[in-house]
Amino acid sequence: AALKRSTLRLGMIPADGIGKEVLPAAQRVLEALGSAIPRVEFVPLLAGWEEFNKNGKALPEATIETLKIECDAAMFGSVSSPSHKVPGYSSPIVALRKHLDLYANIRPVKSVQGVDGKPVDMVIVRENTECLYIKKEEIHDNADGSKVAYATRQITSYASSRIGRMAYELALRRQAEREAGASSSVHHSQPKVTIVHKSNVLSVTDGLFRETVRAVSQEDKYKSVKTEEQLVDSMVYRMFREPEIFDVSVAPNLYGDIISDGAAALVGSLGVVPSVNAGDNFVMGEPVHGSAPDIEGKGIANPIASIRSAALLLSHLGYTDAAAKIDTAVDNVLREGKYRTPDLHGKSTTEEVTNAILKAL
Ligand code: ATP
Ligand code: MG
Repeated sequence: AALKRSTLRLGMIPADGIGKEVLPAAQRVLEALGSAIPRVEFVPLLAGWEEFNKNGKALPEATIETLKIECDAAMFGSVSSPSHKVPGYSSPIVALRKHLDLYANIRPVKSVQGVDGKPVDMVIVRENTECLYIKKEEIHDNADGSKVAYATRQITSYASSRIGRMAYELALRRQAEREAGASSSVHHSQPKVTIVHKSNVLSVTDGLFRETVRAVSQEDKYKSVKTEEQLVDSMVYRMFREPEIFDVSVAPNLYGDIISDGAAALVGSLGVVPSVNAGDNFVMGEPVHGSAPDIEGKGIANPIASIRSAALLLSHLGYTDAAAKIDTAVDNVLREGKYRTPDLHGKSTTEEVTNAILKAL
């Protein structure tokens, strides 16, 4: 349901690397929306690898508490992960998902007419709490000295049902946005959800996922949404051959991880792919890219992934018109082609691209 408030309190967690450069760009765009959204109060918060090295905590208590008690939503930048295991350090983004019960990772992949190769306008909804990620692994020695290792995969009807509902809600929302005139390089005539699984092999676990999402699809409010299924291997093939046929796809954790990185490769640069981590009570926007140490501090990071994440966050909170405004401005700047950062073969800086988007807005 849409969450309408007079003030929106948004936790801002730039964290490391180019997160510090692209999150301010998203903030400037949100500030420029004026009366299209409620007043936004930005709450700067600490987290990340640098913070860990300074104060010993990758995710300070104060950050968690402020998010839980004072904030309606948040934007995250990016985190540098050390290349070796460091005692006491663990990823703040994983911890944030747990603390705030952000059980869905939502990743839209969208091409802009005249910019990228194939037309694509799809979203992957990845379950974020179970599957093989419960990390129950064991290894045993056989009598002959060889070894055997097992991993337990957990699929529950509870988690499958809520991720299924998230996918169908999103399909309806996207249809509403299209009807409101959101630009797209693909024509989706009807909202559609594709259930991704492998129940021909894993008939019990993937069978439960499939059956549970199917049951959600039968609910009255989702009558207008078409339901299809793809085995995960076939999904990869079809996604590369004819990505334009997909609207919303929903998958258990591991398949979702793999296909969402694959889908991101369809649109040229990591610098344009947004995401949100969503739960029932909180949502956090986050560009898909990492901290990009190779370009850090040069002022040339593409701010579009971060700006689109802000739009996605607004859309998730029910401010679909404001979200569409941002997306249209970004599309116009990309299509015009005058201002692009080097990852899109341009010569512009983060600031120049942000200014162009603000002007288009
Ligand atoms: P991390 O460990 O933090 O993920 P990484 O080295 O894997 O760091 P990524 O951020 O994942 O780096 O980026 C992979 C490549 O894509 C890098 O070459 C990076 O410069 C480029 N890249 C990522 N995001 C952007 C962006 N916003 N603008 C321009 N280039 C980007
Ligand atoms: Mg990376």
